[in-house]
Parts: sequence; structure tokens; C-alpha cells
Amino acid sequence: MHLKPDADAMGSSLGLFHFLSQLGHSVNVISPTNWADWLKWMPGADSVIDYEYSTDKANKVLDNADWVFCLDFNTFFRTRHMAPKLKKLAALKILIDHHQEPSVEDFAYGISVTSKSSTAEMVYDFIVDSGHADRINIATAECLYAGVMTDTGSFRFPSATASVHRMVALLKDHGLQHTKIHENLFDNFLENRLRFIGHVLQNRMDIYYEYNTALISIPWKDLVKYEIKTGDTEGLVNYPLTIKGIKLAALIIDRDEEIKCSFRSKDDFDVNTFARKYFEGGGHFNAAGGRSSNTLEQTVQQFIRAMKENESQLQQL
Ligand code: 5GP
Ligand code: MN
Repeated sequence: MHLKPDADAMGSSLGLFHFLSQLGHSVNVISPTNWADWLKWMPGADSVIDYEYSTDKANKVLDNADWVFCLDFNTFFRTRHMAPKLKKLAALKILIDHHQEPSVEDFAYGISVTSKSSTAEMVYDFIVDSGHADRINIATAECLYAGVMTDTGSFRFPSATASVHRMVALLKDHGLQHTKIHENLFDNFLENRLRFIGHVLQNRMDIYYEYNTALISIPWKDLVKYEIKTGDTEGLVNYPLTIKGIKLAALIIDRDEEIKCSFRSKDDFDVNTFARKYFEGGGHFNAAGGRSSNTLEQTVQQFIRAMKENESQLQQL
């Protein structure tokens, strides 16, 4: 899975883990970095190896692997310190992913479908197509549901197709209790995170109405003051999109080791291209990320210039 995994990266990986384990395979799940506390309820999450924290252990697992499934990312760059290891690894690398523009040369084979809602849905298809749908147990269902539910914005994005709803129906048939998953993911934070969001919306958000754009920029000192941890800023970039007329929302965070950018858009504004062109990133048409090695202030200026360069597209409603 990709660094700082979200619920789809973690859920699709653990869903596949439970499935392959049931078929008698010896399976290990590796995350390139640590992950958010709100993913720790997932069945199997306690056995996931953190590559940064347990590098030797993870390298041993990789050296002994026959197959390495690469889930929810499509270029080794997205695995940070694990990338050089993956590159030279002898094991067969298999891609299952839904992001745009895969680095096809990195993988022996696999499947990349950008119209798919989530990697969790693709793992589900993989299981069903293998003829083993009967092996979907509660653990698999919970992990896959978490991935598909979060990546579809709780089933509101256009990617929440009829097939997605049929998948959920089948998971329900297997005994899935979906309310519990929503509570585990969305009602499981500490007070500091909500106070932080209040502060950010009040003091760190700028609206550029003439460009139908909103920008939230967060200095490192805010993260320290509010004791913000991995995953606490997930979803923050969506708030500005609730303002009428806003077409592009950006979140720029000074994470100390680097500046992390998130972009979300509505309708025809392509943030995958935007993130690739200006912020060494990528992702999907309406949701993408990137980074910058400049200061926060410089990155904000870089964003404002990029926004102005795209004015004709942004001003069109
Ligand atoms: P987020 O803003 O939540 O980090 O990322 C939004 C989407 O873009 C996610 O699907 C994520 O996997 C993808 N993404 C984030 N950063 C990058 C990046 O640097 N490169 C690529 N290719 N995708 C990214
Ligand atoms: Mn995904």
C-alpha cells in the first residue's frame, strides 16, 4: 500500500490478506510508513509491518516473497523509503490500483482501472472472479467495506456505481454490520482534532471567489500546538467544497519533513493534471495530492500562481 495509508489502502490490503490466508497462502502486509489510529480497529491491522519502523523485518519478508501485490498506488515513488527495495526485488510484482497513469514498467502484471471506485472494490472483483466469493468472511467484508465507503465519500461520488452497491449488498449478506464501520472511522477522534478543525476553518482558510477556489494552509506550529497526529487532517480538504460555488479546494500542510498538498475539485476541473504539473503529485480527476520542498509561504504563492494560470477553467461554472 502507499505511504500514510488511508482506509482504502489499508482495507484493500487487509481484505486481500484475509482472503489469500484462507486459501492457505503465507501472507504478510507491509505499510511503507505508520498509519492513523482510526485504522487500528481493522481485523489484522495489528499484524501489519511498518516499513520505516521495522525495516529489517520487512526486507526479510520481501526477500522471501514469491509475489508482491501492490495495492492502491501505481508508482514506487508512493512508497517512499521502500521504493528502492521494491524496484530491485526479484518477486513478481502485481498491481491492483485505480489511480491515473500507472508506471507500467514497474509491475510484472496487474490491473489498473481508473473508473473503479476503490482498490477495495477491485480486490472484491478479484475474489469474485477467482470463483471464491464464498470465502468472503466478516473480516474481509469489514476491510473491503471501509475502503469502498471512504473512497466513494460515503457513496456520494459518481464512482459509487450500481456494482458498488451490489458489492455492499453481498457483504451485507455475509453478515457485515456497516454502522459499526462508520463509527470506527468517523466517531473515533479525540477532542483536540475537532478544536483544531475549528481553529483552521476560522483562521487558516482563504476563499478566492473570483476563481471559485479555497485554500487552507497550515503551519507546523499549529500541528504541534493541537498535537495533531497521522490521519487527523484526513477529510479537512473537503470542508471548503461545502461552500456554494467552490470548484477547487486545496490543503497545504507544513509537515516539517515536507510540505504536503491535497486537492479536491468538482465537475470538470482536473486536479490529477494540476497536481502533476505544479506539485510533483497526481491521483484521480477530482482528488489528488502532491508535495513541495519549498517553505509553506512559497508553496502558497506557488499555488496562487497556479490557480491564476488556470483561471479560465476555474471561472467557468
Ligand atoms: P490525499 O489528498 O488524500 O493525500 O490524496 C488524494 C488522492 O490522490 C488519493 O487517492 C491518493 O492516493 C492520491 N495521491 C496523493 N498524493 C499523490 C502523489 O503524490 N502521486 C499520486 N500519483 N497520487 C497521489
Ligand atoms: Mn483508493
